Amino acid sequence: MEGTQVEPPRWYGVVKPEAPPRACEVRGSSQWGEIMECNQEKLLKKCTCTYPGCIRKGKCCECVAYHRRKNQLPGCFFPPEIERTYDRSYRRFVACQKGGE
Ligand code: SF4
Repeated sequence: MEGTQVEPPRWYGVVKPEAPPRACEVRGSSQWGEIMECNQEKLLKKCTCTYPGCIRKGKCCECVAYHRRKNQLPGCFFPPEIERTYDRSYRRFVACQKGGE
């Protein structure tokens, strides 16, 4: 009908909030902007974690997500002597920062 205000679609002009693709899986650009290539090989060389057999080594995004779910921090946040204890807790991190360890 002419002259009638039409309600814009709910997502008009707004990016639909679907789950973004995993950066490791997609290269190029998307509606979320430029997506970086995964540097797992390069990051693996810099990884300071000594936990044997971890499948997340060199995949920092997965490492952070994993430890965040457990209310922890990745091993690389800790000095080597603490990292080797595998205590990744926030409490241990704070203690390290205060110089208590
Ligand atoms: S910090 Fe945790 S998730 Fe990350 S590489 Fe070490 S054991 Fe794996």
